[in-house]
Amino acid sequence: MSVSLLGFCWDASSSYARGPAQAPHVIRAALTSEASNPYSYSGIHFEEAVTNQCFPELPADAAAARKKISETVSETLDAEKKPLSLGGDHSITYPILEALHAQHGPMNILHIDAHPDMYESFEGDPYSHACPFRRAIEDGYINNLVQLGLRSVSPEQRAFGSANGVVMLGADGLEEVPLDQLTAPLYISIDLDGLDPAFAPGVSHPEPGGLSTREVLGLLSKLPAEPVGADIVELNPEKDIGLATANIAARLAKELAAMMTAT
Ligand code: MN
Ligand code: MN
Repeated sequence: MSVSLLGFCWDASSSYARGPAQAPHVIRAALTSEASNPYSYSGIHFEEAVTNQCFPELPADAAAARKKISETVSETLDAEKKPLSLGGDHSITYPILEALHAQHGPMNILHIDAHPDMYESFEGDPYSHACPFRRAIEDGYINNLVQLGLRSVSPEQRAFGSANGVVMLGADGLEEVPLDQLTAPLYISIDLDGLDPAFAPGVSHPEPGGLSTREVLGLLSKLPAEPVGADIVELNPEKDIGLATANIAARLAKELAAMMTAT
């Protein structure tokens, strides 16, 4: 099955800083830049895997924007394509999972992030970029949730994760990732602040001590199932240095698109 590249230019659910709304276009430019070539490590041309693109206009109202995101993913599934979504802040993942759940039921999720994003509510917003995995668990969209790269975890989120069987691993947890939980239907959500800011400085909430680019790519190559969808979120082009983080996002997009079209 081929992939549709979705761009969700949304950062109004961010705390602290704006900027990720610009990211989808910046990543797409990096994907077609002559500085790199369009092939995955396995030799799949990006445009061979990605046969459609949709960067929809999002309404300013957050609830209406989530509805549009969910509808865009549903239309992608109806067209028998898999969604590879470029954020945007991490709030986009909840409406993406809502649409995928309708087709696939509860999913197993690999979530790379410095933060668990499982607050009950953040700054008064239950749909903040700090909350999507709490909402998705509550709504039954998730079977297994495996988080890797965590290094900014509040006690409230630790308790919620423990009570709900979430595997919460730090950036030193690569060898502990339970691959046997990451079977089909598999979804992958990559918040770029899961990587170390030395590799990925272009994020709003940099946390030192993170994963290397090589560690993330190595883990993706080991996953036991072909993903039903994936997202790359939280690039903040205003914080980036010389496109370093945009280029990581583009590499991840090439590898994820290839993984999603393996059969
Ligand atoms: Mn996040
Ligand atoms: Mn994060």
